Amino acid sequence: MEPTCIFCRIVEGRVPSTRVYEDELCVVIRDIRPQAPVHLLVLPRTHVQSLWELDDEALAGRLLSVASRVARSEGLDKGWRLIANTRDHGGQEVAHLHLHVLGGRSLGRMLPG
Ligand code: AMP
Ligand code: ZN
Repeated sequence: MEPTCIFCRIVEGRVPSTRVYEDELCVVIRDIRPQAPVHLLVLPRTHVQSLWELDDEALAGRLLSVASRVARSEGLDKGWRLIANTRDHGGQEVAHLHLHVLGGRSLGRMLPG
């Protein structure tokens, strides 16, 4: 059956995206509404709803190391930020786990106070 999840469709190549990296576990695309000069999304190929549902240490490790790898290949040597919006209160809009890699400008301090 054809998946309705937008990121599953992107992983399968049914919806166009700009891919910057892929391996057997994950795909990295450019965010369609970038919040910084570099805004990438690291997606697992399998449908995992969010970090809350992630129960695979090998995949977790891969997602993290790929985030760092693409940050490096994008030249984010001055720094960058990794965000995983998780579930409703975390502001997650797309229910397919994704790590945001943001950089290319000063992002300021995230935590209030
Ligand atoms: P989140 O709020 O963490 O669920 O973020 C979802 C992100 O996915 C947002 O930054 C969107 O701009 C991005 N997004 C949604 N649809 C697409 C798409 N078709 N291609 C690339 N990025 C997308
Ligand atoms: Zn999905």
